[in-house]
Order: sequence, then C-alpha cells, then structure tokens
Amino acid sequence: MNPIAQVLYMASATLFVLGVRFLGSPASARSGNRLLAIGMLLALGTTLAFAPHYDHVVWVALVALLGSAIGVVSARRVRMTAMPQMVAFFNGLGGGAAALVAAGGWPGSSGAASWLALLTMVLGSVSFGGSIIAFLKLQEWIRVDLRMALGLRLLGLTVLAAVVAGAVYLATSGHGGIGAALGVMAAAAAGGALLTLPIGGADMPVVISLLNALTGLSAAATGFVLQNQLLIIAGTLVGASGTILTQQMSRAMHRSLMNVIWSGKAAQGEAGTAEGTVQPITHDDTAMLLRYAKKVVVVPGYGLAVARAQLEVKQVIDLLNGFGVEVLFGIHPVAGRMPGHMNVLLAEADVAYDQLWEMDRINPRFRDTDVVLVVGANDVTNPAARTQTGSPLFGMPILNVDEARHVVVLKRSMGRGFAGVDNPLYVDPKTRMLFGDAKHSLGALVRELESAQ
Ligand code: NDP
Repeated sequence: MNPIAQVLYMASATLFVLGVRFLGSPASARSGNRLLAIGMLLALGTTLAFAPHYDHVVWVALVALLGSAIGVVSARRVRMTAMPQMVAFFNGLGGGAAALVAAGGWPGSSGAASWLALLTMVLGSVSFGGSIIAFLKLQEWIRVDLRMALGLRLLGLTVLAAVVAGAVYLATSGHGGIGAALGVMAAAAAGGALLTLPIGGADMPVVISLLNALTGLSAAATGFVLQNQLLIIAGTLVGASGTILTQQMSRAMHRSLMNVIWSGKAAQGEAGTAEGTVQPITHDDTAMLLRYAKKVVVVPGYGLAVARAQLEVKQVIDLLNGFGVEVLFGIHPVAGRMPGHMNVLLAEADVAYDQLWEMDRINPRFRDTDVVLVVGANDVTNPAARTQTGSPLFGMPILNVDEARHVVVLKRSMGRGFAGVDNPLYVDPKTRMLFGDAKHSLGALVRELESAQ
C-alpha cells in the first residue's frame, strides 16, 4: 500500500480510538461523535484517492454520496424513541456489506483467505438477517406468536449448524463459486433472522448490540481478506465495544445473555403483587413540595421518552434552581430502551452534564434528598429487585429512591413497566402518584411554579 495512504489510515484509526474514548462521558460525547465522523471521512477520502482501479472510483463516490445522504436524512428525521430500530437497520447494512465484499473476493481464493472470506460471509449475513428482523419487530411491522418461539429457535440453530458445515466443506474442498457464496449468505441470513424472530421487542437493544459486535467482527475479517489495516482496526473496535456493551446491558438488567436470547424471561415477567394504598397528589401540592425542598432528584425513565417531555423537565428544574433548590438527575444504566437513552434525551433539552449522576454516585445521596421526582421510570426504581426473590427483577441494582423523604411518581396509570411486575414503591406511605401523561403533568408543574414566583 502507498505509504501516504498508510499514514492517513493510521490517522483515521487514531481518530476512531479517540472518538470511542470520548463517547465514554456525556460531556465529551459530541466531540467523540465529531472525531469519529472526521475519521470516517478521512478513511473514505483516502480509499478513493488511492484506489488502484480508477474506473471504479466514480461508482464508489456515487454510492458513498448516496449512503451519506440517506444517513443524514434518516438521522435528522428519526424520533428518539425509534433510534433502536434505526441502529438495527444500519447495523444490518454494515453486516450485509461486509458479507458482499467478502463474497466478491472469495471465488478462487484458497487457504486462510478462503476461510476468512467464508467467516465474513457467515457473520455478516447472520448480522444482516438478525438486524433486519430486529428493525421490523421494533417498527411493529411484524409480530410473532410466542408459542412458535421454541420451534423458531431450534430451526434457526439447525440452519446455522448446516451453514457452518457447508462453509467448512467449501473451505476445505476448494469448490464453489459465486452461487455457493450467495447460498451460504442466504442461509446464514435466514438463521440469524429465525433466532431473532422470537426475541421480545424490548430485549431487542441487547440483541442489536450483540449483532453489532458480529458486524464488527465480520468487518475486521474483511480487513484481513482485503489486507486493509484500517478495516481490521475499525472492525475490531466495533466488535469489542459491541461485546462489552452487550455484557454491560445484560449485567445491568441482571440477566445472562443466554436468558435474553433464549428465554426472554423478563419480557414475559412473573407478576409480583404490591399491597397497600395508592395516594394520588395534585399538581399544586407537588409544586409546593418541590418549591420548598432543599434537594430534589429527578429520576427519568422510558415514560419520559414516550411523552417526549424532556423540555418540560428542563423548565421545571430551571424554575426550581431559581428558588434555590438543588436539583440532580439519577440515571440508571438501563433506564429507557437503549444505552444512554436518558443522557441523549436530556442533552437534547440542554440539561447540564454535571447534573446527570450515574446510579452508583447518586444512590448514597437519596438518604438526604427531600423529594424524588420519578418521571416515567418504573423498573429501575422497583424495590422488589432487592427483596422479592421470585421477581424477574431480583438482583438488578436499582435507584434507591425509596430512601428519600418524599417520592412523587409521574405516570399515566398503575400500569407495569417492562418487566411486567408490580412496583411496591407506589404503595409506600411516602410515595404520592401524580397520574397523567408526563408532558402534561410537567407542563402543569411549570405553570404552578411560575405562579409561585
Ligand atoms: P419501564 O419500562 O420499567 O417503565 C416505564 C413507565 O413509564 C411505565 O410504567 C409507564 O407507566 C410509564 N409511561 C409510559 N408512557 C408514559 C407517559 N407518556 N407519561 C408518563 N409515564 C409514562 O421503564 P424504566 O426506564 O424504569 O426501565 C427500563 C426497562 O427497560 C428495564 O426493565 C430495562 O431492563 C429494560 N430495557 C432497557 C434497555 C436499555 O438499553 N435501556 C434495553 C432493553 C430493556 P404507565 O403506562 O402507567 O404510564
């Protein structure tokens, strides 16, 4: 490879590593995103500028422009609640692209090159098939009768076993052309799709993260096939970060990855019961409670995303800050339906990063907190996770909001959260329920607080 191209590729790889590092904190995440975009632009530009076959450059440039246009339009239009399906769709395209590139170079190859090409075709196609199903399920364009779950899983495993056997045969025998490559890819995509079909919609982000790791690995393997170091580095970064994220999400939900993929226990839930009296509260009483508090912690959850109430939350905390009330946010690692969901929503409303406290940091603070305002969060505040051994949430670390002096919960009804179990917090004598859509309730609180100024 041209030495200048090599230096530019190393610069892109450095930008990728730094970008991922910066994504680790909400304060630097935007810069991380920018660095990653610049790294990708540099990588694409270098590839085009140093392409050996100039007759292809126009095609590559056209396709890159088309892809970028689709990416920009989709990213600008997609609603925050639809972000998981967009990630799934793009991830599938990445896996499919890696598989196609490997398939193009495979016929006639031998030895390690043939094995690597087949590995890429299989991993990339599994990721493609699985991700497209994840997208369709999250969009609610397809539904699956859960009575078919076991059959689908067994069929998926059988198909994948046949794919592996077929790929090993092709690699060792040296037979096969583009037809065999397409056959392997179609079967691997079907296997990935079959295994993803029975997975519950809300477990999907964990599966998407796993499929993302597969896409990364297939891209890295393509890098070996094409002898392109940048692809190896970028693919390995995606593969490693996807794997770590999958593990962290499973751990934060206190479930094994096997449980997420194979049984979907939490998605179906085992209903616990919470007995006691539910005590509703009015908007003006809530406003007064908040107005005269010294310390308030806001705990956002999935309902905040559904209600799209982040701007109203920001208005409430600004007003409270104006009254001299200290306000922090308690962020649970799996609040919402995708990693970093709450951070992204609150960043959209310009909430200061230093007000967002992670679970381990905020938990010791609840004891000296006057009021916790729970906005559309349920499972991540459920004390049953500490005590009810039969609960699907048992063992999941939660935000200990029940240790605060007062708790006000904003939700529409006594409806359950993702795990499908009762929340004893709602019948705790110190809890008051402010029923209604979170956007509407917070809007009413803003008006009450403004009139108290
Ligand atoms: P939950 O899903 O447990 O609860 C959300 C609550 O929001 C519901 O009880 C609902 O009650 C309420 N709600 C819904 N719409 C509105 C609205 N418009 N206004 C007010 N309230 C509303 O959310 P949590 O964030 O507490 O927990 C996340 C769950 O998702 C965890 O179990 C986690 O394991 C799981 N999960 C998280 C992933 C992630 O990456 N973050 C990925 C996969 C799963 P009501 O209907 O009564 O209004």
